[in-house]
Amino acid sequence: MIETGRFLFDRMLGSLCRRMRLLGFDSVIIPESETGRFLINAGRENRLAVTLATRESDRPGKPPLVLGSRELDGQVLELLECFREPPPLQPFTRCLDCNSVLAEIGRDEARGRVPDKITGIFSEFMECPRCRKVFWKGSHYEDMLKEVREIESMLNNRKKGG
Ligand SMILES: [Zn+2]
Repeated sequence: MIETGRFLFDRMLGSLCRRMRLLGFDSVIIPESETGRFLINAGRENRLAVTLATRESDRPGKPPLVLGSRELDGQVLELLECFREPPPLQPFTRCLDCNSVLAEIGRDEARGRVPDKITGIFSEFMECPRCRKVFWKGSHYEDMLKEVREIESMLNNRKKGG
């Protein structure tokens, strides 16, 4: 059982890391140069270490969560089911590239940074304070929303099934 929605992923879990960011969880990948300190860093940063490799458990530090599933949706479920309380999903609140919490900006601030036709259509934008990327609820958003809905319904089905 875990209390915190903060994760440190090993380098094989890049897709899972992005998916957890999409759902609003504070998620980082261990830097290449730090892989030997995977569990130590997780402890220091108050994150749950998540890996596919059982051998990680032999290293000093708090034991990691070793995922059994090899496919993305299964891994997401495995993680979410580790929480003592089912965590609220906060989709589209984090930058998928760098994990920073996004800030809302208006159309005027977005102008010139996204194609003109986009500021013509959309009025709400989100900005990453670190990498300065601007996001809006375009077609990519619809795809991601579908993924979020699928995860929510999987979670609900699990709950009903016991
Ligand atoms: Zn960013």
